[in-house]
Amino acid sequence: MFLKRIDVTGFKSFADHTEIAFSPGITAVVGPNGSGKSNIADAIRWVLGEQSARTLRGAKMEDVIFAGTETRRAINFCEVSLTLDNSDQHLGVVFDEVTVTRRMYRSGESEYMINKQACRLKDIAELFMDSGMGRESYSIIGQGKIDEMLSTRAEDRRGAFEDAAGIVKFKFRKKEAERRLAETDQNITRVDDILDELH
Ligand code: ATP
Repeated sequence: MFLKRIDVTGFKSFADHTEIAFSPGITAVVGPNGSGKSNIADAIRWVLGEQSARTLRGAKMEDVIFAGTETRRAINFCEVSLTLDNSDQHLGVVFDEVTVTRRMYRSGESEYMINKQACRLKDIAELFMDSGMGRESYSIIGQGKIDEMLSTRAEDRRGAFEDAAGIVKFKFRKKEAERRLAETDQNITRVDDILDELH
């Protein structure tokens, strides 16, 4: 699996539709201070479902939408699409190419898509679980991340190893199954109560 392309429209400094293509191997993004290099990494985090404006270096989520300049009016929505080559089926879906998209309007509405099909944030999170590329994964090493890895609680560090080992998905599914089991237990209790009343 590798990141083939990012399409950005209206995200931070990228007012116009901008396509950034990557090839296998190492890519370096160079440019003067403030030219938007880190905004590319922010776009990747955002499309993967980042919910914290602070992590994206803003005060509120709306700050990711192009805010306008002296010569250009602000825009009302932004969209980022990430296209991955999945010909090795690393993502656990049958498509050779997977595109995830997030769109957000100033009103606060957010939309997510996988291969142009509307989906929930949860579906995107699940798609990337154990792939090493999720929102919380170690694939984007931000400034200060290494310090954090060295100093935070052991349980937090363990999260990174669990993701690398590929067990996060199973832990997530176990939790979901336990939740459904508890719901079913409650339903059985309710049915028993009704049956008792009828007897
Ligand atoms: P450095 O090398 O200093 O780290 P950089 O190339 O990583 O810089 P970024 O931090 O990615 O630069 O980009 C900062 C630029 O993005 C600033 O000029 C800022 O005004 C612009 N910017 C951020 N958010 C928005 C927004 N919502 N609308 C318009 N421009 C924005």
